[in-house]
Amino acid sequence: TVVTRFAPSPTGFLHIGGARTALFNWLYARAKGGKMLLRIEDTDRARSTEPAVQAIIDGLDWLGLSPDEPAVSQFARAERHRAVAEELLAKGQAYRCYATPAELDEMRETAKAEKRPPRYDGRWRDRDPSEAPAGIDPVIRLKAPLDGETVVEDQVQGTVRFPNKDLDDFVLLRSDGTPTYMLAVVVDDHDMGVTHVIRGDDHLTNAGRQTMIYRAMGWDVPVMAHISLIHGPDGAKMSKRHGALGIEAYREMGFLPVALRNYLVRLGWAHGDEEIISTENMIAWFDLPQINRGAARFDFKKLEALNGHWIRQSSDTELVALLMENRDHLPNGAILTSADEATTRAQLTAAMPGLKERAKTLVELADGAAFLFVKRPLTLDEKAEAILADGGRTVVKDLLPIFQAAQPWDAETLESLVRTYAEAAGLKLGKAAQPLRAALTGRTTSPGVFDVLAVLGKDESLARLQDQAG
Ligand code: GLU
Repeated sequence: TVVTRFAPSPTGFLHIGGARTALFNWLYARAKGGKMLLRIEDTDRARSTEPAVQAIIDGLDWLGLSPDEPAVSQFARAERHRAVAEELLAKGQAYRCYATPAELDEMRETAKAEKRPPRYDGRWRDRDPSEAPAGIDPVIRLKAPLDGETVVEDQVQGTVRFPNKDLDDFVLLRSDGTPTYMLAVVVDDHDMGVTHVIRGDDHLTNAGRQTMIYRAMGWDVPVMAHISLIHGPDGAKMSKRHGALGIEAYREMGFLPVALRNYLVRLGWAHGDEEIISTENMIAWFDLPQINRGAARFDFKKLEALNGHWIRQSSDTELVALLMENRDHLPNGAILTSADEATTRAQLTAAMPGLKERAKTLVELADGAAFLFVKRPLTLDEKAEAILADGGRTVVKDLLPIFQAAQPWDAETLESLVRTYAEAAGLKLGKAAQPLRAALTGRTTSPGVFDVLAVLGKDESLARLQDQAG
C-alpha cells in the first residue's frame, strides 16, 4: 500500500509551499487508499523550536490534512541513524575519514580556483585507519560509486541522471556522532515504510545521493516526485510580498480550508480546465503524472475569488459556525462577541443570506455583519455622514412614522412602504435607501437595506433611525 510523508523542518512555521507539499502527499495517499505520515525533521537543534512544531501540526489540522499517525521526531531516531552508518561501515560501503579542517579547506579553495563545485577527493577511501592522525574525530562517509551514473526516475521531472563522478563521498555521520540530513531522511523513509516521496524540487539533487544510500543498504528506493517550487506572480521566487506567509496568516485573512485546498491543488497540478474542485473530486482525480514541471505562480486574486465561491457554497449554518469558531483568529472577530452567544448566532443566521453574497473572506463576512453588533448611537463613517447631511436626514425623518406603523415587520412590507414613499416624493428608490443604510449601519455598503431592517428588528431599527433624524 501507498505510504507518503510530509517532512518539514520546524525552523519556521508551515508556509504556503509546505502546505502544498503536504496536500499533494495527503491527496496521493487518499487517492490510493494509503496513508500519509508526518515526520518532523528537528535535527537542527539550534533552529528547531517547539512552537514551530505545534504550528505545523495545528496548520495541517486546520487545513484538514492531518497525518494518519502521530508525528515522528527525526531527532529521536538519531541512535538508529548511527547504527545504519555503522552497518554501512561494516559492509564496506562507508569509511571513516580523518581529513583535518585544514585539508578540507584546501579542497574547497582548489575547487574555487578551478571554478568547480567543491568535492571531497576520497583521500581516506582506501587508507588504513591505523594511519589516522591523533586528535581527529573522524566522520563517516559513503563509499559512493566512482563511475557510471545514478538515475532517478522522477514522476514529475522525468529521468534524471547524475554522473557518479560528480557526486563525492559525502558525509553520513558527523564527527560528533550526529547524522547528516542525507542519512537521516533515507533511514527514516525506509523504516517508516515510505513508498512515495513527494517534495519540492529543491531536493532533486539530494535524491541522487539518497539513492546511493538506498543501494548501499540494499533497500528499495521509493518512487520520487519532485514538484516545482511556487513563484510569485512576477515569476520571481516566492517572497513575503507574494504571500509566502505562514498558514495561520491565511486563517487570519479569513480563508476557508476548502478554498485553500482548491487553490493549492491547482498550483502545479491540473485536471483539464477545472478551476473549482471539491476535495472529493481532488481525491478521485489526483495522480502524479498530471503534476506540471513548470513553476506555478501564486495569484492572490484567484485565491480570493475561489474563497468567495466556497463561501457562497457553504450553508448559512456552516458560515455562522465558522465565524463563531474563528472569532479569536479574525482581526475583527471581536465584533462577534459584543452580544450574547444566542443573540449573535440568531442575528448572524438571519443576516447570512445577504452577507455571504458579497464576502470574499471571513474577515469581510464579519465586517459585513458588524452593523448587527455596533452599539447606539452609531459612529458614522465619512460617506454615510455626507449622505445624511445632504438631504438624507429628511428622508429618515419622513420614513420614521411610516415604519412605526409598518405591519408586519419584514423585508417585503418595508420595501413596498419605501417604494410608495419614494414615488410620492419623486425620489429614485436608491435615494431613499441610501440614507436608511447610512443611519442603520453607519456605512454606505451593507447587505440589502430591507434585509438590514428585518434582521435588526423593529425596535432597534427605529431607535437607530431616531438617533440620526436629528
Ligand atoms: N526537511 C526537508 C525540508 O523541510 C524536507 C526533506 C524531504 O522532504 O525529504 O525541506
